[in-house]
Amino acid sequence: MEVTRVEPIVLESSIGTVSIPGGKSDFETTVRPVIAKVHTDEGITGIGETFLDDPSGDSSRSAAAGIQALGNHLIGKDPRNVTELWNEMYVHVKRGVKGYRPMSALDEALWDIVGKDAGKPLYQLLGGKAGELEAYATFPLPKETDELIEDAKWLDEKGFPLMKIIAGHGVKKDRKRIETLAEELPEDFGLAIDANTSYQIPDALAVAEIASEHDLEWFEEPIEHTDIDGQANLNRRTSVPISGFQTHHTQYAAIEHLQKDALEIYQPALDLNGGITPANRVATLVEAFNKEFLPHAYGPMINYAASLHVAAASPVCNLIEFAVYSDDVEDPGEYLASPYIANQEDVYVQDGGVIEPPEKPGLGVELDGDVVEEYRVDW
Ligand SMILES: [Mg+2]
Repeated sequence: MEVTRVEPIVLESSIGTVSIPGGKSDFETTVRPVIAKVHTDEGITGIGETFLDDPSGDSSRSAAAGIQALGNHLIGKDPRNVTELWNEMYVHVKRGVKGYRPMSALDEALWDIVGKDAGKPLYQLLGGKAGELEAYATFPLPKETDELIEDAKWLDEKGFPLMKIIAGHGVKKDRKRIETLAEELPEDFGLAIDANTSYQIPDALAVAEIASEHDLEWFEEPIEHTDIDGQANLNRRTSVPISGFQTHHTQYAAIEHLQKDALEIYQPALDLNGGITPANRVATLVEAFNKEFLPHAYGPMINYAASLHVAAASPVCNLIEFAVYSDDVEDPGEYLASPYIANQEDVYVQDGGVIEPPEKPGLGVELDGDVVEEYRVDW
C-alpha cells in the first residue's frame, strides 16, 4: 500500500465562539478543526485532526500548509509503517520547520489507515481494552459559584464522576470558590481545578494546600509547564495530585518529569504532542513509573476518538476529559463539537459516566461529506 495524496481540510469553528473564564479576565475561544486526509492506492483513506483556538483563521491556515508540506514526506510510502514515518516526520518537526500540530493530525491519519486495513478498531491494535473508562466533565463556562453548584447536580445525575473548573483567579477568590463548592457539591462528586500555568510557586502552594484540605481530585498546571523542578516541589509538599503535560511535545519530556516526580497525572494532548504514537509511549512510561495517564481531550471528534482509543488501551488510565461546552442541552453526555462527523452518536457519555471508543475500524469515525463542504474554508 502507498500514500498517493495528502489533503488538508480547514473547517469553521464547530462550536461557534464560546466565552471561557481566564485567570485575569474571560476570553472568547473557537474550536477550529484542521483535518489531515491521507489517500492511498488501495482505496483506504485515513483521517486525523488537530484544532486551534483561532478566531482569525491564520493559525489554521498555517497548520493546513504544515500538513501539506509534512505530508509530502509520506507520498509513495507504506502508511502502515507508522513508527518509521513518525520518526521521519519528527526529524523535520524537531528542526522547527513544519510543526507538531500537522504531525499529530498526520500520525492519527496513518493509524486510521492501519486500523482500516486490519479491519479492527485502533484500541485493539494497541493491546485491547485495559479496564473501564469514565468521562469527567470539563466545564469551562464562565459561571458564578452558585450556578456551578446547580450544574454539578446536572452533571452528577448523568453519571460524570467529577467536574473540572478553572482556577488561577488569585488565592483569595480560588479559596472561596473551592471552599463553597467542596461544601455544596453532591456527595461522591469530585472537583478538580486547572490554573492553566497562571501561578508562581508561593500562590500555587497556597492554592494546593486549600485543594489538599478539601480532597480535590487534582490541581492541573499550577505553574509554568517548563518549570519541572517547581512542579516536583509542589507535588512533594502537598497531597493534592499535581497534573499537567498538555503543552509538551512527544514522549521525551515525560522522562524528566517522571524521574523528578513532578506530576502524579500525565495529560498529553494528542492534537499537539505528535499524535497517537507519542501519546501511547507516554502512557507506557507513565505506567512504568506507577503514575496516572489521563489524556487532555478537549476538541473535535476525530482527535477525540484517537484519544479515546489510547486511553482505553492504557492500564493506568480510567478517566478521560469530556468538554461540556453548553449547559443549554438536554444531555451533557452528547458530544457537541463535530457536526461534520457522520456517526457522532458513536461517541457519547453513557448514563453512569462510562465512555467507550468507537468500534468501527481505525479511529472509528467517518466524515459526512456534505457537512464538511458546508464548514470547509479556503486556506
Ligand atoms: Mg488544562
